[in-house]
Amino acid sequence: MPCCSNPKLKLVEELGHVEGVDWDLVQCVSCGAHLLRQWSVYAPTKTFYDRLTQEEVTGFCQSQGRERKQLLKDWYNER
Ligand SMILES: [Zn+2]
Repeated sequence: MPCCSNPKLKLVEELGHVEGVDWDLVQCVSCGAHLLRQWSVYAPTKTFYDRLTQEEVTGFCQSQGRERKQLLKDWYNER
C-alpha cells in the first residue's frame, strides 16, 4: 500500500515524462498523503509510489519546464 490501508488516489497534476517514466503527483483522499506515482510503459504492471513531504509537493508544483525535468531526473537518480 502506498500510504494507508484504504488508499483512494486522485490525480493532482501530471508532472511529465522523464527517464522513460511517467510521473504523476497524486493525493490520497483517505489519509491526505501526497504521493509521487511512477509508471513506465516498459513495465506496465509495476507502479511505484513515493511519499512526499509538503515541502517536496510545493517544490514540484512550483517548478516548470526544465527545472521540473531536472527535479524528476534527480529524484530518479537518487533511487
Ligand atoms: Zn492514504
